[in-house]
Amino acid sequence: MRLATVRYAQQPRLVLVDGNELWLPAPHSGWPESMLDLIAAGPERWRVLATELSKIKRDAVRLPRDGTEWLAPIPRPNKNVMCLGWNYAEHVAESASASGRKHEPPKDPIVFTKNVTSVSGPYADVPAQASVTQQLDWEVELGVVIGVGGRGIARERALEHVFGYTVINDVSARDLQFRHKQYFLGKSLDGSCPMGPVIVTREEVLDPQALDLKCWVNGELKQLSNTHHMIFDVATIIHVLSRGMALEPGDIIATGTPSGVGFARTPPEFLKAGDLVECEIQGIGRLRNRVV
Ligand code: MG
Repeated sequence: MRLATVRYAQQPRLVLVDGNELWLPAPHSGWPESMLDLIAAGPERWRVLATELSKIKRDAVRLPRDGTEWLAPIPRPNKNVMCLGWNYAEHVAESASASGRKHEPPKDPIVFTKNVTSVSGPYADVPAQASVTQQLDWEVELGVVIGVGGRGIARERALEHVFGYTVINDVSARDLQFRHKQYFLGKSLDGSCPMGPVIVTREEVLDPQALDLKCWVNGELKQLSNTHHMIFDVATIIHVLSRGMALEPGDIIATGTPSGVGFARTPPEFLKAGDLVECEIQGIGRLRNRVV
């Protein structure tokens, strides 16, 4: 299934995405009200809904793709978004070169979080916040949404815990990120976590480690890689995160960005008001966010 959250009659509502069509199922169809409700319902319910889609669509309201306000698939996550730092070797190398220091690829995942309040829609504006940061940067990343919680999840079974995949732009205020030592503040500005446009459920993504990622700024390609190049793959990340900390349904993991970010360019490039950032992952979709 391809699933999104849109605003309908002032409320966030879970919709089914089919090609260029959005379907809002009728309340009596048993369709959950929100993405988190659907995720919480569990794998058996997902399987049943997936087999009933044509029946569900019969009574659904069809919404225009363009005239509808798209929200993040999970507009208000229950927890901070968990993020991997330096999970692509070429990004480690460009960061080292930009800082003039030697960096080795990490032996264990580097994990930080973005505040839940940073989450925003796939086409939402990103506030430039010029009074706070002069170094707003882009990072296209594969987002993983946990469907089945667990602790001590074995690497071999880890992907069975995934509900689906999405696209995340881990917008980063580099000056804040480095000045405050810990990443949290520089990664958590309001509107700095555009997400979506859809969650593609796990069974439709044959291999999460074989997806092209791209990021453009004002139409110019800045990042181009493939999730094959992750240092720690999705299964390893889930395994490591869950060793002593329970993962729960609806948790979101941003799996790190490849090379091509702004601060590591020569000369460095940063986002300014008016810029258009687009982040795309093969088979999932493209975020389009204007800096304002
Ligand atoms: Mg990142």
